[in-house]
Amino acid sequence: MLKVQNYINGNFHDPLLNKWLNNYCPANGEIYGSIPNSSKEDVDNAYIAAQSAFPSWSQTTLEERSHILIRISEGIEANLDRFAEMESKDNGKPLSLAKTIDIPRAASNFRFFAHAITQFSSESHQSIGLDAVNYTLRQPIGVVGCISPWNLPLYLFTWKIAPAIAAGNCVVAKPSEITPATAYLLGDICNEAGLPKGVLNIVHGLGSTTGQAIIEHPDIKAISFTGGTKTGAHIAKTAAPLFKKLSLELGGKNPNIIFTDCDYKDMLETTVKSSFANQGQICLCGSRIFVERTIYDQFKTDFINKVKHLKVGHPSDYKTDIGALVSKSHLEKVLSYVEIAKKDHTILCGGNKVTVEGYENGYYLQPTIIEVNTNDCQLNQEEIFGPVVTMMPFDTEDDVLQMANQVKYGLSATLWTNDLKRTMRLSNQLQAGIIWVNTWMLRDLRTPFGGIKASGVGREGGFEALRFFTEAKNVCIKY
Ligand code: NAD
Repeated sequence: MLKVQNYINGNFHDPLLNKWLNNYCPANGEIYGSIPNSSKEDVDNAYIAAQSAFPSWSQTTLEERSHILIRISEGIEANLDRFAEMESKDNGKPLSLAKTIDIPRAASNFRFFAHAITQFSSESHQSIGLDAVNYTLRQPIGVVGCISPWNLPLYLFTWKIAPAIAAGNCVVAKPSEITPATAYLLGDICNEAGLPKGVLNIVHGLGSTTGQAIIEHPDIKAISFTGGTKTGAHIAKTAAPLFKKLSLELGGKNPNIIFTDCDYKDMLETTVKSSFANQGQICLCGSRIFVERTIYDQFKTDFINKVKHLKVGHPSDYKTDIGALVSKSHLEKVLSYVEIAKKDHTILCGGNKVTVEGYENGYYLQPTIIEVNTNDCQLNQEEIFGPVVTMMPFDTEDDVLQMANQVKYGLSATLWTNDLKRTMRLSNQLQAGIIWVNTWMLRDLRTPFGGIKASGVGREGGFEALRFFTEAKNVCIKY
């Protein structure tokens, strides 16, 4: 049994009120460990540790911070197998995915911000005719809160922590209570890398108790949050009157727009991934597929054919394409959308639970393709966040643009076409923070990352993240 503990001031602690939650393994539905359900008092202790570490950490040279971050990234890499096994067991994702995507990316996050902080600079303005010069200081905020979801656990957790500490802040962080294991392992790696005590503090527990204590804490001055839109709205409502700086990365319902003139083979291969990678539990998945009518029937046949060959299986089996969904309640939520599809739409493929031999209580679902006849239906308007995609044909560029934008979300969009002018026109008009053309999930960590509308506020990535985690202070000197 894995007993997860809080990591506060460089040490591991049980929760003060001794309250615990069960940790379930999605692959077999069994309890395999316990995690703290931390209280406000635990969060207060984490804050005190962070606050005490801040004066020294914020004055640590960039070179020293950079060295420590590099050592953390090396520590993650040196323990790749252990981290990947934990991530897969905790989340249900294929071990192969955790090994090749999740954990390497967590290491890259630290390495990237180790370098980025040495290149980060602020502006100066010579006020000609006024005999003055202005320069801008970029100062760390102090103690900041980082809250992350379960779908890419260590990947998204470190995407926040790395820029926060690189910029000189101290952190109180909370991973999802559904996938706490790799965040727990990170504590040891940080100690071994020489991260001073209290710079990073990790408290585990429910959103409604532990998370709530972080967002309500009067002296935690900024919150970087990734998770659902409803939670994001609640955090905004709570934190805004306390004048906290907020970065909110929320849900998506992303269009995948396919034109006849695309590179068909490439598009087909990538569309299988953008639909079902990580069991469809990536905020960037292209969950609404729109196909130009001239190739609609051909695409439908080929797509179904490919998807039928995806293997649903135990996450540790290297032949597995689709592992288990993250929890029983999430599986039930996804299945409730399949029920809607049975009544009002056409299920082209999948739609049933899968029993994996030896793991009968695991949370497995077939990859599911649903044909809808309007964008205006629940299946195209609500985030399902599972191995379920919808598809429908379109006739004109204007029609598809209108449907792509007719949704409350605006995270990403994928466009498959070789027409340059169309690419430029649509990229300009699609309401999303990230547009991929003839690719999907190609990530350059320097680029701004985030959504518009109900998909969020603010941007992560590159210098955007370092700007978020610093306050700009202008100094004006007259000479
Ligand atoms: P969630 O909103 O339920 O939980 C996310 C985190 O917030 C968890 O750690 C949770 O404990 C915490 N939380 C919940 N209530 C809280 C509260 N009152 N105060 C403070 N913290 C609280 O989301 P989830 O189900 O874990 O994740 C899935 C969602 O995340 C999907 O909607 C997905 O689209 C979104 N997501 C977005 C991005 C992005 O970059 N935009 C990336 C990944 C996932």
